[in-house]
Amino acid sequence: MRIVIVGGVAGGMSTAARARRLDESAEIIVLERGDDVSFANCGLPYHVADEIERRSDLLLHTPESLKASLGLDVRIRSEVTAIDPQSRSVMVRDHLKGLSYTLAYDALVLATGAEPIVPPIAGVEHPAVHTLRTVPDADVLRAQIEDGAKSAVVIGAGFIGLEVVEAFRRRGLEVTLVELAPAVLPALDADMANLVESELGRNGVTVLTGIAASAFEPRDGSGVDVVLTDGQRLSADIVLMGVGVRPATGLARECGLELSERGAIVLARECGLELSERGAIVVDEQQRTSDPHIWAVGDATQVVDAITGAPAVVPLAGPANRQGRIAANSICGRETAAQPVMGTAIVRVFDLTAAVTGHTSRALDRAGIAHHVVHLHPNDHASYYPGATAIHLAVMFGYDGRILGAQAVGAAGVDKRIDVFATAIRAGMSMGDLAELELAYAPPFGSAKDPINMAGFIGANVLDGTLTLWSARDLETVTGSDYLLLDVRSAAEFATGHLPGAVNVAHTDLRDRLSEVQKIARGRPVWVHCASGFRSYLAHRILTGAGIASASLDGGLQTLLASAPEAVIADMPKHVRLVS
Ligand code: FAD
Repeated sequence: MRIVIVGGVAGGMSTAARARRLDESAEIIVLERGDDVSFANCGLPYHVADEIERRSDLLLHTPESLKASLGLDVRIRSEVTAIDPQSRSVMVRDHLKGLSYTLAYDALVLATGAEPIVPPIAGVEHPAVHTLRTVPDADVLRAQIEDGAKSAVVIGAGFIGLEVVEAFRRRGLEVTLVELAPAVLPALDADMANLVESELGRNGVTVLTGIAASAFEPRDGSGVDVVLTDGQRLSADIVLMGVGVRPATGLARECGLELSERGAIVLARECGLELSERGAIVVDEQQRTSDPHIWAVGDATQVVDAITGAPAVVPLAGPANRQGRIAANSICGRETAAQPVMGTAIVRVFDLTAAVTGHTSRALDRAGIAHHVVHLHPNDHASYYPGATAIHLAVMFGYDGRILGAQAVGAAGVDKRIDVFATAIRAGMSMGDLAELELAYAPPFGSAKDPINMAGFIGANVLDGTLTLWSARDLETVTGSDYLLLDVRSAAEFATGHLPGAVNVAHTDLRDRLSEVQKIARGRPVWVHCASGFRSYLAHRILTGAGIASASLDGGLQTLLASAPEAVIADMPKHVRLVS
């Protein structure tokens, strides 16, 4: 059997390696149009930053090493220019030898990946404007930095955009980040993303949101002026376009394979936009396309969204690698099934880590899925052990308790928490199940009640009615006279700033002052709040025990202020503002 694989990086090489392990006799040919196979594209921003100093460390294999270890026939600078499904052959352009040839296949695998979106902005072809997808792309960025570039504009605040922002800052450049969506990192809800935006500001990055580039105008000498839609001009030696990717499916389209109608829709996760109607390759659970002799894997393909069951495109390395394994299994006669994709992703932004799995609250709203959201801010490890820092968590779950998504931002422990949430979502677990999870604990690593357990406790309390929450959203719909705002922090904390109209009774005094609170409430529900949501929960239970209707602020003032940072608060109803 001859297996021909188009594309020699994540999905393609996974397919090739697994196929060899399953079939020692198969002839496996990998055709890669670039200079490198099996390179670490996820490592590129860290090479630009010089954290990965040696270029060679990104090149995990060579055609020679793959020949020696796996008996693969890997051909670089070999571009597949056409597929003929009838004769089961591909046309290959050998750029090294400058000739073309036809290659027959028994099984063909398309692992052509994605291509960066380059919007048709005037001047976008200027040599100072770049994308980052390949090792040569990173070479060019490094060369420009080493040639003395001082300023950079990064367009797009998705995962790659943020990684490059940090890389440029590490190399000493002045950096401005421009994002069309109202907040950075559109894969997260705005209240979580605002924590990331603050971290960018702390590290000297100028962040402009809700705005786009409209032109790149050459400057005298080198570099460009980036003209924004509001007329602002930003001078930049380097511009990096990080507005997302689209499936590289030209070949598949030309050979008549079925493509999804709206393949680019989930790219909105990355760039915050609903993009043009661009199809991804439609595959079944075995990664087989509409042609029985052609499989497809990775960024070029359509996946099933694990939360909605709808078709989606999720351009991430994990799914691409796993799909390669599934395709090889199928080609070699083992029928395994690709799992729906949750879009679990993580990014380091200076001293913070931000991560997400499943759907955001915004995406659930868009999909019309009713859900609860809880926010919490537990420490990453026991607070009495030195060095504990807060993890900010947002967890989305259905009215039946099923976990639908989670986001985490913090200095430490974010990665393991998001992976537990991802595992829980895959297992179809509920918030009550999280409360009962037995997780590793010693003071330097976690708490006896881990943040995951805490999320489960809160969720279970919401579901069984032990806890009623109110949130920043409610302030937009309810007028101040309909409820009593009760701030249960200490008097000293209250004096540093509070919601206008709030009455302060510390939670420790509440039992003694219940009749006073009841009198002020005059039958209105009491909206309790504190800094993080814990003391207000205690107060809410005291009030409930006394027969006083109340609700506790989800995530406390920390979440409320992150949902509506100062600039936004200024435009919101007066009573949302903190006064002191
Ligand atoms: P690719 O790995 O892109 O491979 C496709 C290959 O096909 C390319 O080498 C291309 O040259 C070749 N090809 C295309 N057309 C042809 C043709 N006609 N003939 C021959 N060859 C062809 N994902 C994460 O999960 N975590 C991360 O931290 C992360 N960081 C990233 C950072 C950067 C800078 C980039 C660019 C991507 C990052 N990703 C990350 C995404 C991840 O790299 C991709 O999801 C993954 O590589 C997709 O694998 P693939 O095999 O589908 O495509």
